[in-house]
Amino acid sequence: MADIYGILKSYYGYTSFRKGQEDVINSLLSGRDTLAVMPTGAGKSLCYQIPALCMEGVTLVISPLISLMQDQVRNLIAMGIRGAYLNSSLTPRQMEKAIANAKQGMYKIIYVAPERLEMPSFIDFACSQNIPFVAVDEAHCISQWGHDFRPSYMQIADFIAKLPKRPVLAAFTATATQMVRSDIIKNLRLREPYSIGLGFDRENLYFGVYSPIDKTKFVVDYVKSHENKSGIIYCLTRRYVDELAEKLQDNGISALPYHAGLEDSERSFNQNEFIYDKAKVIVATNAFGMGIDKPDVRYVIHYNMPANIEDYYQQAGRAGRDGEPSDCILLYSGKDVRINEYLINKSEENELLDPVDVQKHIAIKLEKLKLMTFYSTSKTTCLRKRILNYFGEAYIPPCDHCSYCVKLSEEQIKKVKVPVLDKELLTVLEEARSNLAKRWGIPAYSVVNDRTLREMAMYRPKTEADLLKIYGIGQVKSQRYGKTFINAIEKYESK
Ligand code: ADP
Ligand code: MG
Repeated sequence: MADIYGILKSYYGYTSFRKGQEDVINSLLSGRDTLAVMPTGAGKSLCYQIPALCMEGVTLVISPLISLMQDQVRNLIAMGIRGAYLNSSLTPRQMEKAIANAKQGMYKIIYVAPERLEMPSFIDFACSQNIPFVAVDEAHCISQWGHDFRPSYMQIADFIAKLPKRPVLAAFTATATQMVRSDIIKNLRLREPYSIGLGFDRENLYFGVYSPIDKTKFVVDYVKSHENKSGIIYCLTRRYVDELAEKLQDNGISALPYHAGLEDSERSFNQNEFIYDKAKVIVATNAFGMGIDKPDVRYVIHYNMPANIEDYYQQAGRAGRDGEPSDCILLYSGKDVRINEYLINKSEENELLDPVDVQKHIAIKLEKLKLMTFYSTSKTTCLRKRILNYFGEAYIPPCDHCSYCVKLSEEQIKKVKVPVLDKELLTVLEEARSNLAKRWGIPAYSVVNDRTLREMAMYRPKTEADLLKIYGIGQVKSQRYGKTFINAIEKYESK
């Protein structure tokens, strides 16, 4: 039996597994295909890295983004684990060298881009190796219903079928609706997989939706009041990114932009400045984030509403990976809906698909946009409940940790706690009540009950209209006894 606790301690320096990790690892080590749906920050990487270290041969990890692979391999090497990546960022010579090393058994874990699985040279290489295990990270990329569909993920199953011995397969994602989950199982051809679905809830995150008239001012104020905290601000377009980053800089904030229009060198420079805390704020398009494992991001602000709830939750979820309280704030305006519609219709992906698929694709995306808009504009439900329900998870509000629930409880506090009970006045009112009781020949509680008396002591009604708002006072009581109570209150106040 592999000593997974020993590996956890000696390589990662952690003393205990987080929820779900041990189950996934044990399932994989028992040789069973596994589908793990775990929220961002749950620690999915470790769930495939530890089995890879326990098995003979080399493990392949399929990952969609170069920056993601680089980040992971850097982390592995830093822990003393022999890892490498094969992707288009390598020169032909570096690639040759890496393959030669791999053939000599230098690596335990190799990250590959899905496109490479179709290349004959790579297939030859893979067939010559002992590959006990293949892990597919960000597995939602295999589904058209996912938010990040990548056609090349569809080639994975064919690649697996070409290997001399079928490896154990694992799929990992943070974001999967029921439809995405079944697409993953079907398209990867998982065999009777062990499925684990941790809840999606990230308890340490606060969710807020606001519609400020001046979004920029909102952001500047927010960032200033969170000095020395790291934050990400997402915008829909490059132009918004550049303008907002400049505006923040003008206000003395160390903010840097990040989007696909910048030179590669500038992008990775800015990213590093952020990771190493030299820039506290990064203003970015959705090009930023996948594969960034900065655990102490204290807030994620969406300057614009994103295109769908999956994207939103994944981006917002980059806050608070370390489990500490963090804010996720969405700034909504009607214009965001139109920008998203425009972006969906002119997406580059449309060119890769055949025209019938394009129409289907656009329709799905517009439908998702509608649900995102609904989330951003509806003022009748706990936001956490909305998100979790979207992912098929039940939730009973209030969460006390979203802009809806907090507002609700503030209103309740106002109603119940703000007026204080004046005990002296209460005594005065009790005397008035017993005088009335004597005069009318009825018990005191029949005049008005204790709660009514307490409310009068708190709200101090001055007119009959005020009096009618008090619990337990109807028309008749107000006419019969009202004057006595009002006079008593007035006399008390003028004392
Ligand atoms: P995911 O891919 O699920 O979003 P990562 O694998 O990037 O999450 O892990 C998120 C962070 O949690 C990383 O900094 C990782 O080192 C840390 N982490 C993972 N497992 C544990 C653990 N058992 N104990 C402490 N920290 C952990
Ligand atoms: Mg991950």
